[in-house]
Amino acid sequence: KPVILWFRKDLRLDDNKALNAAHFSGRPIISLYIREPEAAGTGPLGAAQSWWLHHSLEALDGSLRKRRGGLLLASGEALGVLRSLIRQSDADAVFWNRRYDPPGISIDAHIEHELEKQAIEVKSFGGQLLHEPSQLMTGSGTPYRVYTPFWRALERSIEPEPLDIPSKLQLASKLPGSEKLESWKLLSTQPDWASNFADLWTPGEEGAQEKLRTFIEDRLDGYKENRDYPAKPATSMLSPHLALGEISPARIWDATRGLSKHLPAADIVHFRKEIAWRDFSYHLLAHFPRLATANWEDRFDRFEWGSAEEDFNAWSRGMTGYPIVDAGMRQLWRYGWMHNRVRMIAASFLIKDLMVDWRHGEAWFRDTLVDADPANNAASWQWVAGSGADASPFFRVFNPVLQGEKFDPDGDFVRSHVPELRKLDAKYIHRPFEAPKSVLDAADVILGETYPEPVVDHAGARKRALAAYNAIRGAA
Ligand code: FAD
Repeated sequence: KPVILWFRKDLRLDDNKALNAAHFSGRPIISLYIREPEAAGTGPLGAAQSWWLHHSLEALDGSLRKRRGGLLLASGEALGVLRSLIRQSDADAVFWNRRYDPPGISIDAHIEHELEKQAIEVKSFGGQLLHEPSQLMTGSGTPYRVYTPFWRALERSIEPEPLDIPSKLQLASKLPGSEKLESWKLLSTQPDWASNFADLWTPGEEGAQEKLRTFIEDRLDGYKENRDYPAKPATSMLSPHLALGEISPARIWDATRGLSKHLPAADIVHFRKEIAWRDFSYHLLAHFPRLATANWEDRFDRFEWGSAEEDFNAWSRGMTGYPIVDAGMRQLWRYGWMHNRVRMIAASFLIKDLMVDWRHGEAWFRDTLVDADPANNAASWQWVAGSGADASPFFRVFNPVLQGEKFDPDGDFVRSHVPELRKLDAKYIHRPFEAPKSVLDAADVILGETYPEPVVDHAGARKRALAAYNAIRGAA
């Protein structure tokens, strides 16, 4: 009898524990992907990530076909889909890799319970994280709330061992009718992401492996220092691949093992620490599900957010008049990805300069990032807002001009995403509103026409934000 291998956010064959277990169970494997209803709680998939998912499913189907199998696509409530496939195929087992978002956890628990009542064997596996969220706990058995001790515990724990793809997979070749990927309409035409996204990204497992190779060969050396400069190609760009599980964190971890003979240990450790931040975000989300939508620090519930819609629109369209913010927001629109340093600056600007509730920014990112991730996105927004666990304090307000000058000193990042400032002298590239008229003229910049005036005055906005913060500061 066959086993159903239910793919979710683990769209890979390499280091896939459920796949390995299915293989070694000796049964033919039916590979299944279910498009679950949004209301089931797995969250609406953003438009940018839908583009990615389409191509990732194609890639996975291609790899399975090379091995004489294929991916079965179905839509609906997962339990109903699984039951009907069990009836049609006579499968007596369902295997999957665990997911860690709270709605996903409860759906899976329910499915396991129901299928086991039907005497179907259900097995779930780890592998989406370096460690299960319950594996690393403080000395008193509680979840971690602070990153550094979490990292220390992770560092001390057993190294994850990735699994290779079993040779000679026995994939079920006669599958019941699959839905057509095209009918899912994951590729939006408004906007049509395809042209720009495809310049930068190759969704799927092979694309992920390639990004990892390039990173290790060309970028890991110097990562610790270079990763903060958005004009440099210095980071791995693995985040969208990790978000849909096209590569496992254990595989990434393993690839950086033993490299300290050739590369500075500080770079390797720093990179591993970032991978561990992802685990930490999931650790928080799994133990404190409200992190996704509610202020972790509930005194922020009384924070007096502003509500100017035009400010949010200026921010989301990259038209705030602060070049580093605008370059980041346009990079996001163009490629579905934004450099981490600029994400922090842009998020701080929305929350603190424009006084917009972090949840609006989180939702915008969720819709437009190809790496949108329920744990990392919510945890990072709350980190910037100061409302999160182990967060940056609210009163640390980023100055977008100084941040731009420090991390994009020649303005190359701004120039590549804000073409209307391309000719502006580096001295003013992060502060065009202070440039003399002759300098603006020479660069063909007309403030308020070719490029916006600042939507707020940063110094005044900072005072306003701190006053709002002081009003809730003492609150419990
Ligand atoms: P690298 O520097 O190469 O890091 C390697 C991997 O480590 C990343 O792919 C990622 O999985 C993990 N990582 C790196 N930085 C962080 C971090 N600060 N927190 C958690 N994990 C990290 N990351 C997402 O994956 N999805 C999101 O939706 C997301 N939203 C964010 C929102 C805001 C406001 C901010 C400030 C950060 C957000 N991040 C998010 C974290 C970070 O910006 C991205 O993971 C990183 O920029 C991805 O690029 P990279 O793969 O080249 O990173």
